[in-house]
Amino acid sequence: MNQYETEALLNLFQEQSFQIVYFGEKADIYIINTCTVTREAERKSRQMIRKAIKQNRMAKIIVTGCSAQSYSPELSEIEGINFILGNGEKNHILKYLQNTVNNFPVISVKPIKNVKKYDTLSKKHTGLHTRSLVKIQDGCNNFCTYCKVPYVRGPQRSRNPEDILKEIILLSEKGIKEIVLLGINLGTYGHDFSDSNINLARLISLIIDNCLKIKRIRLSSIEIININNELINVYEKYPKMCPHLHIPLQSGSDKILRLMNRPYNLSFFSDIINKIRKRIPKIAITTDVMVGFPDEDENSFKHTYNYIKNIKFSKLHVFPYSDRNECLSNLLINKVDYSVKKMRTKRLLKLSDELFLTFRKQNIGQVKDILIESVKISQTGNLEAYGITDNYIKVCIPDFHGKKGDLVRAKLTKINNGYVNALL
Ligand code: SF4
Repeated sequence: MNQYETEALLNLFQEQSFQIVYFGEKADIYIINTCTVTREAERKSRQMIRKAIKQNRMAKIIVTGCSAQSYSPELSEIEGINFILGNGEKNHILKYLQNTVNNFPVISVKPIKNVKKYDTLSKKHTGLHTRSLVKIQDGCNNFCTYCKVPYVRGPQRSRNPEDILKEIILLSEKGIKEIVLLGINLGTYGHDFSDSNINLARLISLIIDNCLKIKRIRLSSIEIININNELINVYEKYPKMCPHLHIPLQSGSDKILRLMNRPYNLSFFSDIINKIRKRIPKIAITTDVMVGFPDEDENSFKHTYNYIKNIKFSKLHVFPYSDRNECLSNLLINKVDYSVKKMRTKRLLKLSDELFLTFRKQNIGQVKDILIESVKISQTGNLEAYGITDNYIKVCIPDFHGKKGDLVRAKLTKINNGYVNALL
């Protein structure tokens, strides 16, 4: 999400003829679009703020994003920050810069729970990519007990379809072949519209019918409760839909799921996964898992481990639990020791490697559509291409004579470190 919004901010400044430089270079204005989803993300955000201040003490330092939304009093104590702007003020950065005369720091953080309308920040350029994120939804009403997102992003709200189509057509005219639809709680797209005729499945159909130059569509992440027959139909009907779904599980223990306030149990989760696999047999399903949530004893962890192994996800993203201010899980008493969390994370990461290897092996011998993302000269002096398959396997094609952005069909031949080799 931050990547999309940072690119949109970059476009905003480019349109006003600002020169954009890499973060490590000396600049007159630094914008740090912070994250607060984990404690580690927050630590890194503050590290970047300090780095920017050190790089040019005369520069204007603007801090925005989720950390700014949540921690403006603490951030205002860091000497050198000129602007602290909440998530609702992010798209007015230029106005703040133009209208402020040396009266720093400017702190503008409005309560996000009152923001009911989708903001207007949008992407207009693509940089040098062939694949682009497209944000279609913001906010979440679910309040999982460990998650800060509803407090810093506000209630769920959807972008209007006309804006989305306009952005995608613009991106496709600049060479983008694949779009990744992005949202905080993507599957709730359209739930806040008074017109109940538009939802995620119907938006995808609209994109396919109106943006003909787009060759592939992927969803960033979707909650299991939002996967219904209509959405599965879209995957069945349109070959442009990438057979890859990222569905957060979080825990393989019903007891922990209840404590997390996740809106499903394992039996529901398994039923939907079975339904998806029955109708789209070759689909890759990846997931997020949180380890060390309060009350996760060895037995609950064992359940999680075995559940993941049985479901056979293609890959896992593993996050150790940490207390976040405002979150209800802080109040739970049976906290898990740091060393136990570390060990469980390691065990799940190892399982993820095994699952990912199995998944890639199952794909060897198959012919796949590959979107070429870069072409380089190999050690032998020939050109080789790097790209991804529709089901999200990173591929290397030796001896390649095409160009970046090509969509080619190639046979996956063997696993080669982080890549799978493919032959045209
Ligand atoms: S569904 Fe839960 S984890 Fe996801 S953003 Fe909403 S509150 Fe956070």
